[in-house]
Amino acid sequence: MTEVRLAECAGFCFGVRRAVDTVYEQLGTGKTIYTYGPIVHNGEVVRELEERGVRVIQNREELLGMSPGASREEAVIIRAHGVPREICEILESKGFACVDATCPFVKKIHRIVERESRAGRHIVIVGDPRHPEVEGIRGWCDGPATVVENAEEARNFALSEGCELCIVSQTTFNYNKFQDIVEIFQKKGYNNNIVNTICNATEERQRSARAIAAEADVMIVIGGKHSSNTRKLYEICSRECANTYFIQTLDDLRLELPKAVRLVGITAGASTPNKLIEEVQNYVRIKL
Ligand code: SF4
Repeated sequence: MTEVRLAECAGFCFGVRRAVDTVYEQLGTGKTIYTYGPIVHNGEVVRELEERGVRVIQNREELLGMSPGASREEAVIIRAHGVPREICEILESKGFACVDATCPFVKKIHRIVERESRAGRHIVIVGDPRHPEVEGIRGWCDGPATVVENAEEARNFALSEGCELCIVSQTTFNYNKFQDIVEIFQKKGYNNNIVNTICNATEERQRSARAIAAEADVMIVIGGKHSSNTRKLYEICSRECANTYFIQTLDDLRLELPKAVRLVGITAGASTPNKLIEEVQNYVRIKL
């Protein structure tokens, strides 16, 4: 008998759920709602919100070109990833009603880097420099900051010995890679203040995905193709299970089930709605 098992921690995390709920709450106010960037890295969710009238401000330049909402009938929601401080200042100066749905765990990193950089420490952010969360964190530093994405960049990093560093991480960064990078910094003789800011939701999701993938004959990872945490789940699962599929929606799934399949595992990135996970689960059950 084949089992279909969903990873314990799959789909929306606390921060994303909170941000999406905020958008729906704000829709109820009758205001024109904007989100600064797509509210989640999931095309389906964003499309559904667009159909309900939510508009996406793509970047700083677009925001700068917008007219202020004179009657405050327009609200801009800041998504769970957060934004640089400058964006908050622009929103305020333009008179938009700003609804901050930055995840509290990300907000905490903003406070850490602000405080530590004001204390004179060089900030090292371990993460993907192109990711909006990292851009946001960088935008709260009040002094020099460097984004380090891998061990090679960590090895090449050079400041004079004795310098004071504060090292934080993108919340969705892989825990083991973070540890490797931290070790490299520890050997350099800096005075390091290391704050592991990887979110538990990510660790838990990765751990439960790895555990199922290690047992599964087929593994399905659901999530947006731009979602870094989903890509990491795919990476982890592929290492454990050769038959790992990465899909955005059910339409992408061309499932070739091997004969005598005992276990099909399913996991999903932080931006994947429950509805989609359920659809995939049902589909697989029907295929068996
Ligand atoms: Fe917040 Fe963690 Fe979700 Fe990121 S992964 S939005 S830090 S709960």
